[in-house]
Amino acid sequence: MKKTRGFGKIEIIVCFVCYWFLEGFALQDIAFYEYGPREIDCCKKIKDLYFDFYKKDKPLVFIKTYGCQQNVSDSEKYAGMLEKMGFQITENKDIADAVLFNTCAIRENAENKAFGNLGWIKNIKNNNPDLFVILCGCMTEQPLVLERIKNKYFFVDLVFGTHSLHKFPELFYDVLIKRTQKEKNRSGIYISEKIDNISENIPIKRGNSLKAFVSIMYGCNNFCSYCIVPYVRGRERSRSPSEVIKEFKNLVEAGYKDITLLGQNVNSYGKDFGENIDFADLLKELDRIPGDCKIRFMTSHPKDASKKLFDTIAESKHIVHHVHLPVQCGSNRILKEMNRKYTKEDYYKIINYAKSKIPDITFTSDIIVGFPGETYEEFLETLELIKKVKFSSLFTFIYSKREGTKAAGMEDNIPKEEKTKWLLELLNVQKEISENLCKDMVGTTQRVLAESCDEKRSCVFCRTDGNLMVEISGENKMLVGSFLNVKIVDCRTETLIGKII
Ligand code: SAM
Ligand code: SF4
Repeated sequence: MKKTRGFGKIEIIVCFVCYWFLEGFALQDIAFYEYGPREIDCCKKIKDLYFDFYKKDKPLVFIKTYGCQQNVSDSEKYAGMLEKMGFQITENKDIADAVLFNTCAIRENAENKAFGNLGWIKNIKNNNPDLFVILCGCMTEQPLVLERIKNKYFFVDLVFGTHSLHKFPELFYDVLIKRTQKEKNRSGIYISEKIDNISENIPIKRGNSLKAFVSIMYGCNNFCSYCIVPYVRGRERSRSPSEVIKEFKNLVEAGYKDITLLGQNVNSYGKDFGENIDFADLLKELDRIPGDCKIRFMTSHPKDASKKLFDTIAESKHIVHHVHLPVQCGSNRILKEMNRKYTKEDYYKIINYAKSKIPDITFTSDIIVGFPGETYEEFLETLELIKKVKFSSLFTFIYSKREGTKAAGMEDNIPKEEKTKWLLELLNVQKEISENLCKDMVGTTQRVLAESCDEKRSCVFCRTDGNLMVEISGENKMLVGSFLNVKIVDCRTETLIGKII
């Protein structure tokens, strides 16, 4: 069922004026989809077809997810819908009746991996022509990739992009019915309508019983010059606060202990609708919900990380004292070229403010090494920044050219080997920082969540607010799922050793 968050006459004029100020912001409606009778009916028909035609009572599906947490969260929705179609999840691709690849487009190697894996799917399909191959996610939102699939990967049955997630049951049924009726043109490459949408009530099969994701917004308006996300995931659109609160409440009531709010830039939550609520307000609302559950969020863009956000964390009961705040690099010239809209001085100001309000706060970050035109001296500024800020850990990437982005047109004259050397230098510096931070934690008391247990070793594995692993010996699985106060007594590289107090 579709409703739209459209524009009235006055809004259209205002938006038209805004258009001149906001880079890449396109005038468009946001469509709202409610998973409902139509989707339920398609799921049932797919279930019946597998039973009647293939004699499969419980067909098996293998799901492979590439990329970020947003993709992991989307895959939980695909799994939820597949379950309604009668499928069971298998970890063994060789016995699957269907495989679903949820792809990522952020770097070239993510795409290469997906294409590489399609190779082994082709072999499996040679032996099992009934195998249903589904390709979805960010990669398939790019016209060049679609062309490549059309021309080379004939064995793929269904292709659709992130904008069409809610259409999955309908698209699957459409191809399946053609296939069972032996229609020649049975493969479905579905070009997503580029209407930015929000879908509610999609069934979700969560991959973990303690930790859960809640998407609070989709898309991105920032157009960092290296990044493909705004092109493949569309413009920023926030879910309504009431929907987010409802999902969060249900998770807490169901016993989830660690909930991560997801968005490409959670700090701009609410900017796209008229309601008077921003991200910090949403956090306050969620923090008030009774229950014992940690609240995390990612990702925060430094340009929108407000004082109000850190004041809110400082005053909250459940929000972890940890923020993932990608800086990308430490050179002001490169930050400008990247279109990040902050300087390293702005970044230091945020960190200092946060530490003044929350002394035990920890930060993690993303770094891109070897942006086009970056010099070694500029790279050294990144090293200086990470030494000053002392991130507990980093996600590091060598710049990857993405066709269609602004940076793809910039001259990139640093050889790959040189960039790799810089990356190794960075990793060495960060290793020392992370290890020293772990050593500094020895003697402190931490409230951790017991997540899993190795029964053979009588060992329980827990996580701190900052996502560091704490190992506790001599304990059993009865503790899994509870919060524990532990004293950190030792550390082995980046693993902490704790004792319950
Ligand atoms: N929205 C988040 C932000 O701006 O901080 C990041 C989302 S993106 C999925 C995760 C990370 O991938 C980015 O922070 C960036 O470091 C990295 N990334 C994005 N595009 C890249 C590219 N073309 N080459 C290398 N790394 C890239
Ligand atoms: Fe990409 Fe920048 Fe948007 Fe993050 S904020 S998703 S890096 S464009």
